[in-house]
Amino acid sequence: MALTLDQVKAKSASKLTGLHPVMRQATERLIERSFARGVPILITQGLRTIAEQDALYAQGRNKPGQIVTKAKGGYSNHNFGVAIDFALLQPDGKSVSWTVGKEWMVVVEIAKSLGFEWGGDWRSFKDMPHFEMCFGLTTAQYRAGRKPSGIALAKAISVINKEDDVMKEELAKLTKRVGELEAAAKRIPAPKWFVAEFGSGDLGGVISEPAFTVEGWRTLAVGLRVSK
Ligand SMILES: [Zn+2]
Repeated sequence: MALTLDQVKAKSASKLTGLHPVMRQATERLIERSFARGVPILITQGLRTIAEQDALYAQGRNKPGQIVTKAKGGYSNHNFGVAIDFALLQPDGKSVSWTVGKEWMVVVEIAKSLGFEWGGDWRSFKDMPHFEMCFGLTTAQYRAGRKPSGIALAKAISVINKEDDVMKEELAKLTKRVGELEAAAKRIPAPKWFVAEFGSGDLGGVISEPAFTVEGWRTLAVGLRVSK
């Protein structure tokens, strides 16, 4: 059975704890919009403590494994709740994929439209699952205890919500168009076979607006045959 948006969001909920509130809002939009595009994602990392960051830094250096970060504790935006990592959630709802292909790039495109910076754009160390939203501050400034300015946050929020408004408008337009198409597809004028059998589509003025669904014309024909 296909995963619902609620199920997908629930799987990432714990990783959203501790994120900067605006970052958290952007991340929720990212999960929702990716899902709407048919790409469910899992947030695999959110806030990382300094100790966790140090342990991760040791990996591939003085501990076994592959090098996965260039940052020691306090030098990653993860340590300040303004970075996330993601993976593609598989249909079983349990396993994930790290394959950087078409689906991956859909998520990247959505993330950028929300104002995220993508680690895949970095020159020295490409970090494909990584997104961050630093609100104009460096890790050094975060380390020193600086907080994002109100203006930087307002700007970020307007980017996040601007896309929402566009989405709502586009959705409203699409819904209207689908409605029109459905209405047009459902009700059709008398088919040729009907006219051939009964002489006309309006039965000589008996029907004022001769437009029915295909099923409607068949039902009408059956009724007329019985009453003949
Ligand atoms: Zn990361």
